[in-house]
Amino acid sequence: MLRLPPFRYAAPGTAHDAARLLADHGPDAMAVAGGTDLYPNMKRRQFTPRVLVGLRGLHEAYGIEADGTLRLGAMATLTEVADDPAVRARWPAIARAASLVSSPPLRNAGTIGGNLCVDTRCNYYNQTESWRASIGYCMKKDGEICLVAPGSDTCWALSSSDTAPVMIALGAEVTLVGPRDVRRIAVRDLYRPDGIAYLAKRQDEVLTRIDVPDRAGWRTTYRKLRRRGSIDFPILGVAAALRLGKGGLIEEARLVLGAVHTAPVVAADAERFLRGRVLDAETIEMAAGIAYKPARPLDNADLSYAWRKRMARVEVARALRELAGLPTGDLPPVLA
Ligand SMILES: Cc1cc2nc3c(=O)[nH]c(=O)nc-3n(C[C@H](O)[C@H](O)[C@H](O)COP(=O)(O)OP(=O)(O)OC[C@H]3O[C@@H](n4cnc5c(N)ncnc54)[C@H](O)[C@@H]3O)c2cc1C
Ligand code: SF4
Repeated sequence: MLRLPPFRYAAPGTAHDAARLLADHGPDAMAVAGGTDLYPNMKRRQFTPRVLVGLRGLHEAYGIEADGTLRLGAMATLTEVADDPAVRARWPAIARAASLVSSPPLRNAGTIGGNLCVDTRCNYYNQTESWRASIGYCMKKDGEICLVAPGSDTCWALSSSDTAPVMIALGAEVTLVGPRDVRRIAVRDLYRPDGIAYLAKRQDEVLTRIDVPDRAGWRTTYRKLRRRGSIDFPILGVAAALRLGKGGLIEEARLVLGAVHTAPVVAADAERFLRGRVLDAETIEMAAGIAYKPARPLDNADLSYAWRKRMARVEVARALRELAGLPTGDLPPVLA
């Protein structure tokens, strides 16, 4: 049995106090929300913080409010987000992405804020301490080199959040509370192209809220690829959002790929290609042919990276067909 390393647990009552504790203890401290990612990682000694700053007492980080915009408290559980009637009706891609994370018990404990901050993943890193010791560790923790790309000075662990691509596609923003300041940044700017320092959030900042603009009139979806129909992290995520105007012309398009790089990838060329066109079968195939190109999967996740790259094209096309109301070509669940 893997056991947690010893740590001290602090239970602040406000985000400001939480941020101050994180600042006071520096790299020795980490925030914990539902703990569904952090605790298993601590058991494998991927993290060994001496102090955990629990976020459960942060009243300002709870609740789901939907008027014009959607305001999600970072401590809302994935189940609460997935089941919320307003989210399901007006931001269905968020509800779908949240409902596809892991399994029901983990969605009951795991939070939407934790999902946006979830650690990057790699087959050489998400292993027990003894497994990692046997191969001499790697750059992300305790080692010197990257075992996937030994010549690289960057870690290529994959961004594996299901909700991040959707939040970026919908133009969501997060509120970050630090010991001395509060700032609001686009979710798009929350991620960095580095598998180790993957968040633009400072170590002493607490994510308290996610604001999503009203997307009335948009068609949105999220598709997830994984080996098994539950539990597994994504090996590919596709978030798509389109606003159609007169004559069915696409006025705005957002396509974001997850789990193909250290950060979610905005398929900007495909977005530009889609604007001003009609969403027909030919446009969809051409857009998918452009969208999958920036995907950079490496040999560090489940199934072959070449197949995962090819599937990015297939899944983008399926997402767009779904938005066009065309058959997606999915197998019925019993055969999938
Ligand atoms: C078996 C298994 C399968 C899983 N499958 C999936 C999956 O399919 N898709 C997926 O996306 N995830 C998956 N996860 C990961 C995890 O369950 C979810 O991402 C979950 O939403 C994490 O939320 P949490 O509240 O438990 O985060 P925690 O584990 O508490 O924290 C995760 C990280 O975020 C930081 N953090 C958390 N909240 C905040 C905050 N408010 N402010 C600042 N920092 C914060 C923590 O310091 C930590 O670094 C899986 C985990 C397991 C164990
Ligand atoms: S990508 Fe390289 S450095 Fe990063 S976790 Fe994997 S093996 Fe380690």
